[in-house]
Amino acid sequence: MTAAYEYETHDYDVVVVGAGGSGLRATLGMAEQGLRTACVTKVFPTRSHTVAAQGGIAASLSNMGPDNWQWHMYDTVKGSDWLGDTDAMEYLAREAPKAVYELEHYGVPFSRTEEGKIYQRPFGGHTTEFGEGPPVQRTCAAADRTGHAILHTLYGQSLKEKAEFYVEYFAIDLIMSEDGQCQGVLCWKLDDGTFHVFNAKMVVLATGGYGRAFFSATSAHTCTGDGGGMVARAGLALQDMEFVQFHPTGIYGSGCLITEGARGEGGYLTNSEGERFMERYAPTYKDLAPRDYVSRSMTMEIREGRGVGEHKDHIFLNLSHLPPEALAERLPGISESAKIFAGVDVTKEPIPVLPTVHYNMGGIPTNYHGEVLNPTKDDPTAIVPGLMAVGEAGCASVHGANRLGSNSLIDLVVFGRAAAIRAGGIVDPKTPNPELNQASIDKAFARFDGLRYANGSIATAELRLEMQRTMQSDAAVFRTDKTLKEGVEKMTEVAAKMDDLKVTDRSLVWNSDLMETLELANLMPNALATIHGAEARKESRGAHAHEDYPERDDKNWRIHTISRVEGNKVDLSYRPIIEAPLTTEAEGGISLAKIAPKARTF
Ligand SMILES: Cc1cc2nc3c(=O)[nH]c(=O)nc-3n(C[C@H](O)[C@H](O)[C@H](O)COP(=O)(O)OP(=O)(O)OC[C@H]3O[C@@H](n4cnc5c(N)ncnc54)[C@H](O)[C@@H]3O)c2cc1C
Repeated sequence: MTAAYEYETHDYDVVVVGAGGSGLRATLGMAEQGLRTACVTKVFPTRSHTVAAQGGIAASLSNMGPDNWQWHMYDTVKGSDWLGDTDAMEYLAREAPKAVYELEHYGVPFSRTEEGKIYQRPFGGHTTEFGEGPPVQRTCAAADRTGHAILHTLYGQSLKEKAEFYVEYFAIDLIMSEDGQCQGVLCWKLDDGTFHVFNAKMVVLATGGYGRAFFSATSAHTCTGDGGGMVARAGLALQDMEFVQFHPTGIYGSGCLITEGARGEGGYLTNSEGERFMERYAPTYKDLAPRDYVSRSMTMEIREGRGVGEHKDHIFLNLSHLPPEALAERLPGISESAKIFAGVDVTKEPIPVLPTVHYNMGGIPTNYHGEVLNPTKDDPTAIVPGLMAVGEAGCASVHGANRLGSNSLIDLVVFGRAAAIRAGGIVDPKTPNPELNQASIDKAFARFDGLRYANGSIATAELRLEMQRTMQSDAAVFRTDKTLKEGVEKMTEVAAKMDDLKVTDRSLVWNSDLMETLELANLMPNALATIHGAEARKESRGAHAHEDYPERDDKNWRIHTISRVEGNKVDLSYRPIIEAPLTTEAEGGISLAKIAPKARTF
């Protein structure tokens, strides 16, 4: 090691890494139960990507027409293309109303109906009568700034409960005992260059997604899969990483998101012939079919020469038929984004849009209590003691092969809350904290030091771009044996170049060069797991559309992909999905027969 590093140790019952919606909901819940809770975050809490969530949060409140959790569960199962875990999907749908009312009581300023109830809008794939009835209004919204409202409220409440925040602390690596228990996390304080070990009985990873492994993504530049990176380096597993959601309506050119709420409020897509083509692909739900379906239909239109614009390479989203007052009241944020990023006045012109990387269905495998799993052949649900994962970083798995719009925000608060409930049961504040494994701390510093003094020939930004371009072209909306094989080969080469990085700034204070290098080191295992998982999966399911295997293959592939990444190598194995509802039909639950796999049509 080139330098010697000193560090300060902090003792807590729980340390949460991440202050997005999931991290804050977990932090608040843990603190409410009297657990001494620290929340560590690389950006100020209210700058987390959750702040950008626009459209809303799904829960069967029945404020705008009949609805129930069983219908929500059915839609989630079908949306997942039958790859989700039944227990977790039931838990999500059943607990959703409770979690939303809690948000309301904490102070989230939801939009309201005439009678003063929480306003709900239609969203893709959310239906009635077990997929047989018309679309339902299930997505609770605070105009088109729902994430903003939730994040600010949860941050305020967490402060009130005396959770302690460590802001602009970058988590480098997990501290693991010899026998595989998580004992804490090593962090770098970005503004003064000091190091901090957070020693805790429970570490919760709430670090968000890894959209930035791709060239064009709706997610913030901070969405670099740091939790997945830390987990991979600890020798633990990632799950279902091949399933990457492309949102149908990123603004052409910038990738900035136009919420699905725009179509929920009556917006529709057209091709170069002015045709509302979704009527052809999804006769029942049209523009409100799920995202994987709409993104593929748009891509097909463009491929067949019916794209719009000079290069016929995008699609129009039309809103100008909607009353200007409705746009101003329900969609003020996206009206502004369309003006800034596309120069379009939504009251007069259509918005140019293109499917854009938006969400990672895969992540760190957990059970529905948020506890991280380290699946083995003998025990596919083995728990890693002392470690939880929630939010987009985790994979519970409720979204399976495709997430429904507005099901992420509800995932954040339902499982953030579930993790807190579980921790309340298993973390005993009176017992001493685990004794830290010095070898694990030394190993983390050695890796950090290696990157800090990296003196090869490729700049971080250059290698990042190579990775992003490879992932964008080879792990795209449509995939083939050829593109995926090429992708695996290229990504193996790209990842090997991590050994040839050049970091120019060696300081420890506000060193963005080094921070971005640490982030690249985290993106890399996420990207590798994605392309390898995709190459191996010889079927089409949800967001994984394989042109050489266009059908879903439930007999061979209704299984979770487990990947372990070491350097530029990926080891794949599989684990069965969980098919056990939490309640029986007699208790009001859904029978397995009701949610048995069938063709997914809209
Ligand atoms: C533009 C946009 C709009 C969306 N709209 C909706 C919507 O309307 N409805 C819906 O359901 N979903 C929506 N989604 C999806 C949803 O918002 C995200 O999946 C969700 O907000 C992720 O929340 P999170 O808590 O997992 O992580 P994030 O909000 O991404 O937060 C991650 C946190 O981890 C911290 N962190 C990360 N790495 C480190 C590290 N190394 N050290 C310390 N801290 C770290 C960050 O500082 C941050 O606080 C949208 C997503 C985008 C991008």
